Amino acid sequence: MLGLMQSQNLSIASLIDFAEKHHADTEIISRRVEGDIHRSDWATIAKRSRQVANAIDGWKVAQGERIATLAWNGYRHLEIYFGVSGSGRVLHTLNPRLHPEQIAWIVNHAEDHVLCFDMTFLPIVQNIHVHCPTVKHWVALCDADKLPADTGIPNLVSYESWIQSQPPTYAWPDLDENTASCMCYTSGTTGNPKAALYSHRSTLLHAYACALPDVMCLSARDSVLPVVPMFHVNAWGIPYSAAMVGCKLVFPGAALDGKSVYELLESEQVTLAAGVPTVWQMLLGHLKAGNLRFNHLKRTVIGGSACPPAMIQAFNDDYNVEVLHAWGMTELSPLGTLCTLKNKHLALPQDEQMKIRLKQGRAIYGIDFKIVDDQGVEQPHDGKAYGDLLVKGPWVVREYYKQEGGSPLVDGWFPTGDVATVDPEGFMQITDRSKDVIKSGGEWISSIDVENIAMAHPEVAMAACIGMAHPKWDERPIVVVVKRPDTALAREDLLKFYEGKIAKWQIPDDVVFVDAIPLGATGKMLKTRLREQLADYKLPA
Ligand code: ADP
Repeated sequence: MLGLMQSQNLSIASLIDFAEKHHADTEIISRRVEGDIHRSDWATIAKRSRQVANAIDGWKVAQGERIATLAWNGYRHLEIYFGVSGSGRVLHTLNPRLHPEQIAWIVNHAEDHVLCFDMTFLPIVQNIHVHCPTVKHWVALCDADKLPADTGIPNLVSYESWIQSQPPTYAWPDLDENTASCMCYTSGTTGNPKAALYSHRSTLLHAYACALPDVMCLSARDSVLPVVPMFHVNAWGIPYSAAMVGCKLVFPGAALDGKSVYELLESEQVTLAAGVPTVWQMLLGHLKAGNLRFNHLKRTVIGGSACPPAMIQAFNDDYNVEVLHAWGMTELSPLGTLCTLKNKHLALPQDEQMKIRLKQGRAIYGIDFKIVDDQGVEQPHDGKAYGDLLVKGPWVVREYYKQEGGSPLVDGWFPTGDVATVDPEGFMQITDRSKDVIKSGGEWISSIDVENIAMAHPEVAMAACIGMAHPKWDERPIVVVVKRPDTALAREDLLKFYEGKIAKWQIPDDVVFVDAIPLGATGKMLKTRLREQLADYKLPA
């Protein structure tokens, strides 16, 4: 017997319709690449996203065609999010931090039909457009009078002139909820990048999950600033969840330095911010230098790479901001786990609570996970046994776009490439990416543990732990460190700092000081490049 409830396709268009109907005047604020602060609201975003849909129809772009963006977080990008997916095309967000050659490769692989870009990225587009034959139209996200005359790019229009005369009404198509809605390529640290192709259904379910109290706890009373880019895994789904709950959105544009982000957090009374640890490092540096405080910020979601304990502590103890440590990946839309305490943990002393907060968190309903050993045997949830982390759920990839790399699944589970432990309460802790684990004398050393200790040293700005080949132990860890400005940290001081904090054999063999650690396109440390840079390095005898 079937249930007798209405059946309705889950759709991205329904999100923007809802936000317009129920949260029309809730503000959408953007720092533009022009430098000024732009003020809009959900009603205006909704109207302009319908104009985008009409403009795309005007170019006779078929359903399912890919429309790419190369853009910062801003209101025009948000309008494109809804206009493209809502009208049945696939939004393809490109990562501008990749090398132009990689961007061109991805555009060709995705066979993008239209490419919309912020003026910051004009040089990239000038560089790649001749290599991108599938792109029939280029759209510069600016006013008509801001478009330079001779860019050399054929079929280039300004966004404002493109949508300006389009009707503000549009009948969104009723799409099967499994229709593709958006796509994002993985950063391709190993081999060519592969694309996760999300559907309306997966995006909507992820949006519900993201808003839950034990996840981001989003509501109409929040003002949310995603520093995490809309060009990488949909800014962790925040644009969709924001429309679902009708909260205010504050977009930082290109200005991600501590001062600019702080100004927006204060002036727009931001209650929740989200980003990777490297961005928060800059923000905390700015606060400390200026002896500043947060007057509105209550929570910050930190993920994308392990959040150092010193950062959780600084937010918590110095600024009274709760850190929500999150784990996810492109293939998971991206949220998998988030760390919030259970009721029974509230009575624990602060340092006991901190031990829990450091973990990547509990599964979000919808995501199931397990850890397995090399033979695929499930490992116990005792907080000690570690294994390869496998996941499944309705917003986890089944296969990659164009079936690249064959089926990634193992007996229906997606192997994340991360190594983790799970404690009896279900809190998962990433010990490493499988390729970053250091194997010393048959025992594993977590590079994250080694980095976290270094990061807790007041004179360390950034630290990366990598394994170096060793004739006896196979591999030994070293820690590569960027010192804080005007400090004189010595190798021996840092090695001494490790004593008593981890087992003796886990203490790195050496400290290598560098001016900068290479970062990848999503702000994570690029250990592959670091290893190349240290190719001639020799471990101390
Ligand atoms: P990539 O394209 O490199 O896979 P993603 O943005 O999809 O980039 O990153 C996913 C990976 O980032 C995870 O598999 C994990 O290794 C790492 N990661 C994400 N969040 C965390 C976290 N909170 N702690 C530790 N590692 C994390």
